[in-house]
Amino acid sequence: MTLDISFVPAAHPRSDAELAEILANPGFGTHFTDHMLTVEWTPEQGWHDARVTAYGPLSLDPATAVLHYAQEIFEGLKAYRHDDGSIWTFRPEENAKRMVGSSHRLALPVLEPDDFVQAVDELVKVDQRWVPEAGSEKSLYLRPFMIATEAFLGVRPSEHVTFMVIASPAGAYFKGGIKPLTLWLTEEYTRAGRGGMGAAKTGGNYASSLVAQQEAIAQGCDQVVFLDAAEGKYVEELGGMNMYFVYADGHIVTPATGTILEGITRSAIIELAGKAGHQVEERRFSIDEWREGVASGEISEVFACGTAAVITPVGTLKWEGGEVQGSTEAGPLTMEIRQALVDIQYGRADDTFGWMHQVV
Ligand SMILES: *Cc1c(COP(=O)(O)O)cnc(C)c1O
Repeated sequence: MTLDISFVPAAHPRSDAELAEILANPGFGTHFTDHMLTVEWTPEQGWHDARVTAYGPLSLDPATAVLHYAQEIFEGLKAYRHDDGSIWTFRPEENAKRMVGSSHRLALPVLEPDDFVQAVDELVKVDQRWVPEAGSEKSLYLRPFMIATEAFLGVRPSEHVTFMVIASPAGAYFKGGIKPLTLWLTEEYTRAGRGGMGAAKTGGNYASSLVAQQEAIAQGCDQVVFLDAAEGKYVEELGGMNMYFVYADGHIVTPATGTILEGITRSAIIELAGKAGHQVEERRFSIDEWREGVASGEISEVFACGTAAVITPVGTLKWEGGEVQGSTEAGPLTMEIRQALVDIQYGRADDTFGWMHQVV
């Protein structure tokens, strides 16, 4: 606990009736809680002026660096309510460490992991009535982010940086049952190259993925898959989710290339699947292995994973001039791992890995 966080309560918090209406159908990323957390940084003062205040718009000089050069990083994690009313986050120190890695890549200052966790905890405590009821697959999505806030158009790391946490209730990702995604393989665009920012969680990676995602939608697909930039041969990931391939003989492969963003969900699945007796390989995985494996039946299940959806099955893969049809239903191992993970997050299964962090 090293941040000294002041608190000015919102003058007009949402009424209980308004809140109940929002939590009945929260959607994703459209409603925000009553408060936000802010911490400022300068080279002279380090991190200072930590505060929780009413949620509201920022006032930024039009020359603010982030608006021009995208010196920005973010994280995403969730708070879950358990049956006894307590509130927990999932491996927040992993998000904190990943943000340190992203800071290095984007030349932003380091926020110590303890301070990150303290900041996230503080906002969840203040806005705890916004964490949806237990027994649903709802949660409170937390979005920590760091932006360059110096008003200066020269190109160098900003000497004023702002870290914030905002929170948004999230509904169950799959409303009408779990349905496999259809993926579009882009052969034109890549998301990350060697020495680039692929392993950092930064807005620029998302900005560059949007046109490919648009192409996927135009092709009647749900999401886009990216290949490596050097050879156009190895599977990387989706715009914001990592991938898994399950073989009929029980072993599992997840791509590792040095340019993917290594998800905390991805790493949890490696451990869960290992504990369940599956051999898990982290290695380069070619697009031909995918096409041929699914066509021959050697690959029995494909899924994608990330904090928002947890795990989502993948069905058909399409590309310019072809497709390989996958399953139209979620596979059994996909669902088993998903259930095991969700049960730990919602406190319905023993947390044998020590992943959960109690906030309230
Ligand atoms: C955040 C993110 C993921 C998933 O990470 P989780 O920690 O599992 O939520 C995967 N790929 C990209 C590009 C991401 O930004």
